[in-house]
Amino acid sequence: MSDAVVKPTLKTMLDALRAGKVVDATAIYVDGEWTNSSGSGVIDVVGPATEDVIAQVASGSTGDVDRAVAAAKAAQPAWAATPAADRGSYLTKIQGIVLERLEEFAELASRDVGAPVEASKLVQMGLPIFNFGFYGDLAGSYNFDGEMIGNSLVTKEPIGVVGCITPWNFPAHQIALKVAAAWAAGCTVVVKPSEVAPLLAYALADVFDEVGLPEGVFNMISGEGSVVGEALVAHRDVDMISFTGSTRAGRRISEVAAGSLKRVALELGGKSANVILEDADLEAAVAGGLMNSIGLNTGQACTALTRFVAPRSKLAEVEAIAAAQASAYTIGAWDEEGTVLGPLVSKVQYDKVRGYIQTGLDEGARLVTGGLESGRDKGYFVTPTVFSDVSNDMTIAREEIFGPVISIIPYDTEEEAIEIANDTVYGLGGAVWAGDKDHAVAVARKIRTGQIIVNGGAFNPAAPFGGFKQSGQGREAGAAGIEEFLETKAMQL
Ligand code: NAD
Repeated sequence: MSDAVVKPTLKTMLDALRAGKVVDATAIYVDGEWTNSSGSGVIDVVGPATEDVIAQVASGSTGDVDRAVAAAKAAQPAWAATPAADRGSYLTKIQGIVLERLEEFAELASRDVGAPVEASKLVQMGLPIFNFGFYGDLAGSYNFDGEMIGNSLVTKEPIGVVGCITPWNFPAHQIALKVAAAWAAGCTVVVKPSEVAPLLAYALADVFDEVGLPEGVFNMISGEGSVVGEALVAHRDVDMISFTGSTRAGRRISEVAAGSLKRVALELGGKSANVILEDADLEAAVAGGLMNSIGLNTGQACTALTRFVAPRSKLAEVEAIAAAQASAYTIGAWDEEGTVLGPLVSKVQYDKVRGYIQTGLDEGARLVTGGLESGRDKGYFVTPTVFSDVSNDMTIAREEIFGPVISIIPYDTEEEAIEIANDTVYGLGGAVWAGDKDHAVAVARKIRTGQIIVNGGAFNPAAPFGGFKQSGQGREAGAAGIEEFLETKAMQL
């Protein structure tokens, strides 16, 4: 490492942030060391509660991508030949270190993404801690040597070099989910974190460095999606792209990846329905729906249950419960007493979400609670907002808002409720609430999504996660997650 390279660690970044200084995260991580980007620009990172510039990251170049991919390619055969249990033990060590520094990681998450610190501990950092441990164990127990089918030995081999492109809403989780599963499979990686909330990526990279991974197994370049992201997707030596982000970017990635016909795994957007059946417990159905929409990172979650499909006969009741419960979600900065919901991540997101609230009003949806006023003069705060009398063809019912905005859509028959739930280009999440579980399961089976909550069933981080329709291709998490990164070979004996 040359003298001019500033290594961004969890401690140095937090020290700078606590002192009100701008974090220097302009280094990139290539071939086992922190180094400078060959690009000339930097990208400002803005704190969501303060609107101040809190950090700068490098605006990486295509030359950086070439260096990182070459390092990942050179390291891959030896990494694949390393006993899988040894690969797993790096992950177990990483889990231990992140757990030990949970308080500091959570504070960094809160300062960068905006979530209150308890939510950062539980979700922003709780999920990566789970996944490092899960794939650490799975690497050692997974059957790579396969099975005999007739005279064929069917084995599993790593696909090779993986480009991981991640968003800003759960930045550590999305990196951990991809990197841990790819390493367990025997792949090496080049990560392109989101430029909007990148600091957790640096703190994780420092931990990966600390555990002494072989050079080239992990590489990370910050920068714009249109430059660094597309260069990674187009690169001939990248065997696979694992992408989480918007459907818009996913479509572009599919186009660019077609040039080299590489495998592409896509985790994209959603517009999930919270289906409340006639005999459901309304208080529980609304509470569960809100917890899994606005309560998830201020609605900035791909599985957010943003369409409440409610019986017309109970519409007034559902509205009253939703108004009371939604307005009880107190907004505030991550370190303010009583904060339940943080601000949105950026000015872009703030303008976009407020634009959708205005569109809802313009298209004739009825405002039940919330609206355009947040009562705050600084920070990207949006008050939890509930619209009713929404029809499923209104813009707010069709497009992903990615903020704390709920649409209540009335229905007359159960068939109509299912039709509304499925009448979307997306197919990521959903929920069904009924008086009894069998009834709820029967309806859940008819909803075309990759995940679905039945009568409040808890999120399971080991269950396969991914979307039907335009919500994506492939599955992450659990045992399904490792298989994304494997090729199948049949040897005829
Ligand atoms: P985004 O698509 O704008 O950016 C995601 C990442 O892709 C960033 O790192 C960005 O720099 C990069 N990127 C952008 N354009 C690119 C291009 N042309 N080529 C290569 N890379 C490119 O998304 P975002 O705003 O960061 O995140 C919000 C979106 O992510 C929402 O739509 C949300 O639903 C989705 N999301 C999906 C899941 C899931 O698992 N299905 C999880 C979280 C978020």
